[in-house]
Amino acid sequence: MNQNFTIEESLVTLKDYFGYDKFRPLQQEIIQTILSGENCLVLMPTGGGKSICFQIPAIMFPGVTIVVSPLIALMKDQVESLRANGVQAAFLNSSIDSGTQNEIWHQAHSGILKLLYLSPEKLFQPGIMDEMKRLHISLVAIDESHCISSWGHDFRPEYRHLSIFKSQIPDVPFVALTATADRVTRKDILVQLGMPNAKTFISSFDRPNLSLQVSPGLDRKKQILQFLKSQSKNSGIIYCLSRKGTEDLAMSLNAAGYKADFYHAGCEPLKRAKTQEAFIKDEVQIMCATIAFGMGIDKSNIRWVMHYNLPNNVESYYQEIGRAGRDGLPSKTILFYSYGDLITRLDMIEKSEADEEQKELRRAKLDRMKQFAEAQICRRRILLSYFNEETIEDCGNCDVCKNPRASFDGTILAQKALSAIARTQEKVSMTALVDLLRGQRTAVTVKYGYTELKTFGAGKELKTEFWMDYLLQMLNSGIMDIAYDEGHVFKLNNLSWKVLKEEYKVLLAQARTFESRMAEKAENKPVKEQVKENANQELFEALRKLRKQIADEESVPAYVVFSDATLNDMVLIKPINVGQMKTVQGIGQVKLEKYGAIFLKEIQNYLRNFKVPGTRLANGVTYLETLELYNKGLDIEEIAIARNLAPSTMVQHLIKLKSEGESIDLEKFISKAARKTILEIISELNLKLVENMKIQEILERVGEAIPSWQIRLILHVEFERKA
Ligand code: ADP
Ligand code: ZN
Repeated sequence: MNQNFTIEESLVTLKDYFGYDKFRPLQQEIIQTILSGENCLVLMPTGGGKSICFQIPAIMFPGVTIVVSPLIALMKDQVESLRANGVQAAFLNSSIDSGTQNEIWHQAHSGILKLLYLSPEKLFQPGIMDEMKRLHISLVAIDESHCISSWGHDFRPEYRHLSIFKSQIPDVPFVALTATADRVTRKDILVQLGMPNAKTFISSFDRPNLSLQVSPGLDRKKQILQFLKSQSKNSGIIYCLSRKGTEDLAMSLNAAGYKADFYHAGCEPLKRAKTQEAFIKDEVQIMCATIAFGMGIDKSNIRWVMHYNLPNNVESYYQEIGRAGRDGLPSKTILFYSYGDLITRLDMIEKSEADEEQKELRRAKLDRMKQFAEAQICRRRILLSYFNEETIEDCGNCDVCKNPRASFDGTILAQKALSAIARTQEKVSMTALVDLLRGQRTAVTVKYGYTELKTFGAGKELKTEFWMDYLLQMLNSGIMDIAYDEGHVFKLNNLSWKVLKEEYKVLLAQARTFESRMAEKAENKPVKEQVKENANQELFEALRKLRKQIADEESVPAYVVFSDATLNDMVLIKPINVGQMKTVQGIGQVKLEKYGAIFLKEIQNYLRNFKVPGTRLANGVTYLETLELYNKGLDIEEIAIARNLAPSTMVQHLIKLKSEGESIDLEKFISKAARKTILEIISELNLKLVENMKIQEILERVGEAIPSWQIRLILHVEFERKA
C-alpha cells in the first residue's frame, strides 16, 4: 500500500466518475486517511455522503474493495448507481447463479472489478473466505457498522465475525461507516473490529436542507391535500401510527387523484416488495407507511416526509425525516401534533410488556419529543442539542424561525380556560375543554352538563386549533396541570389561582393558521422572478419525464440516471453544449457520454418553444431566455445558436432588456475596428444617425466584413451616445 495519492487525484476521480467539483466536509480528510492505508471510523448522517468516502479510494486503489453491507436492496442500489457512473462493481448474494458468481470472481482476480458488495452471512459461507485470501484486496468497508455492537439499535450477531476477517488480512485498511452511533457504540465498533486506535471522523448531524415544521393535528387530511398542491409530482412519505391508518390515508389520497399506496409489516411480502419498487421508480408518488418502511431505501429524491402522528422519540423522528433530501436539495418535513397523540403514545407505553425501568426510559424519550413539538424556539437547535451538538445560531429553516410568533397578553384567555376547568370540578379533558370554551354541543359537553356552565362558549371567538395551541402553551408555562392517572384531565394549581386573581400575567405566542404557516415569503416574489421560476419548473418537469423514460428503458430507478440535484443544476445552468453540460454537478464522464446529447436536445427544444401566456411579460420569456444566456457570458452569436434565432434578433432583445433597466453591457460586443469603419462610412455617405436607421447602404459598403448584427449594434450605441 502507501502509494502517494494526491488530493488533486482524488478530486479528478470525483469529477470524472461522479461529476462533482468538490468534496463535502470531512470527505476529503477521510479519503486521504484511507488512501494512506489507515483504518478509520466514519459517522455521518443519512445522506451525508458516506459512500463516496470509500468509493473514491476503491476506484484509485489497484486491487478490489470489499464492501460488507447488511441489506440486499441497498447493495443492488449502490451497485447500479456505481455502474451507471462507469465504475466496475458487483454484489454477491443468494440470488446470483454460480455462472455469474464465477465471472465475478474472475473479474475480481484480474483487477477489473473495483468494488465487491456482500453481506456478512455470505462472507462466512464455506469457500468464500478462501477466495478472499487469494484476492488482492485494497480496502474493506463495513457499512452500517453499528450492527456489530450490541449497544447499537440494530445488533446483528453475524457482524461479530468480521474481526476474524480483519485478523486474516491485517495489512488491509478497514473503514467502518454508520449513520447512528452514540459514544458507547462507537467505541464498541472499534473494539469489536480490533482497531481501537483507528481515526474517528464525526460529521455534523445537521441536515440544513430539511425544513422542519410542526402543525396542529387537526383536519390532517385537509392540511395534507393543501400541502400536496405545492408538490407537483414530488415523492414523499407519510408515516402513520397504525397499519389501518396507512390504508385509510392512501385510499383518501387516491380518491383525491394522487398516486398513493400503503406499506406496513402486515402486508404480503410480495406486495411490500412491489410497492417499494414502484415508489423507488417514481410510479407511486406518496407512500403511506408505518415505521416498517424506509430501512434500506436509498432513493435520493424523496422531497418531503410527514408524520401523521407523533413519533416515539427524537431518534426515530430524525431517522425518518432523514430519508428526505438525500440529494441535498431543499426538502420539507411536517409533523402533526396533537395532545391526543401524546396521550395515545403514553397509553401505549403503559400497556406495553416492558418493565418499569424501560417504561420510565420511554416516557422520558417521549417527553423530549413533546418538547420538540411544542417548542417556541428554533426547532433545529432543539434537535441538535438532543444529539449533543452545539449551535450558535437559529437555523432560519424551521417554522419557528420563519414565522417568529409575536407574544401577547393572554391573561384573559387563561382566565377563561381556568375558570372553565374550575367549573367542571377539574374533570375536563383537552378536547372537551375546547368544545366547552367554544360553545360546541357535543356528546360530551351535553352529557356532563357543560352546556349549562357560565363559561360555555366564553371563548367562541377562537378556532379550535388556536385553543389547542394556547392550552398547550398554558400547560407548558405551568399555570395548570394534567392528571395523567385520571384520564388526562386538567387540574388547577397555585399559579392557576394567581392568574384568576390577576396576580400573574400570562404571555402567549400568537397562534397561526395552517394556511399562514404554509405561506412562505415566496409569494411576494417579483413577477419576473415568478415567471422565471415557473419556466424553470416546466423545464424541470420535462427533464424529469425524459429521465423516467431512460430509467424505464434501462430498468433502473430514475435517480440512478440523474439525481434531482443534477436535474436542478441542469435547469439553472441550461447548458447548450457539451462543455457546459460537463459543469453540471453529478455528471461524470460516462453519464456525459451516455445522456449528454439527449438532455442537451431536450433543453434546446424547451428553449425554442417556450412561451408563458397571460403574464405581464406576455412574450417576455423569450427575452428572459436571452437574458439568462447573456448573464452566462455567452456572446451574441452563441446566444443566437442556443436560441436558434438570428443574431440581429438577439441584438434587439438585448437593447430592449437594457431599456427595461437590465444591466446589459452592449459595448462589450462591439469591435473597435468595426466601429471605426462604420463611423467612417457614415461620415463619408453623410448619413444621419437616427433610431432604427436603415443599414442597407452601409451593408453594401462593408460587404461580408462586418456582420449586420454588429452594424445594428454599433448604430444603436452611437445613436444613444448622441441622444
Ligand atoms: P449516505 O450513504 O451517507 O447516506 P450517500 O453516499 O448516498 O449518503 O450520498 C448522498 C447523496 O449525496 C448522493 O446523491 C451523492 O451522490 C451525493 N454526494 C455525495 N458526495 C457529494 C459531493 N461531494 N458533492 C455533491 N454531492 C455529493
Ligand atoms: Zn430554526
